[in-house]
Amino acid sequence: MACWVWFSKNVPRWSFITWLAVLERLSTKDQLFRWVVVDSQVCDLCGIREESHRHLFFYFEYSRGVWQSLFARNQIPRQPLELGDELFWKGKGFRSYCYKLSLTAVVCCLWKERNGSIVQSKAGAAKAIAKGSFEEVRAKLSYCRALKDSDQNRQ
Ligand SMILES: [Zn+2]
Repeated sequence: MACWVWFSKNVPRWSFITWLAVLERLSTKDQLFRWVVVDSQVCDLCGIREESHRHLFFYFEYSRGVWQSLFARNQIPRQPLELGDELFWKGKGFRSYCYKLSLTAVVCCLWKERNGSIVQSKAGAAKAIAKGSFEEVRAKLSYCRALKDSDQNRQ
């Protein structure tokens, strides 16, 4: 599973957050509640359910909206799977690279949004999160392309 999170030309911060999410080691409210750090397990994004890794990254409207938007942009015609299953999605070459990059970007953006919602007591729109992660992926791909085409890499 590690090779689907840690891959060539990844964004280390995105891979690190995704790796922690896969291992369920991020400090979600269900864990903080167990450690008696917070007095409520309620998710700040939806305000209804218990915040766990599964809920935060896949099982509520907000994250589903982000995934569906991202899948539509990447022309992936299916519903999102669980994080562990998504990591085993088998594409080839550049398409696979784009997908893995997108997946880690989405996980990182959702985590960032979750942390922001705790501080600001409000969450951005799911489509805005998807668009933000898509733009970050595009910037990373442009950077990779720039690396390939630079004079320095041609020597
Ligand atoms: Zn929620």
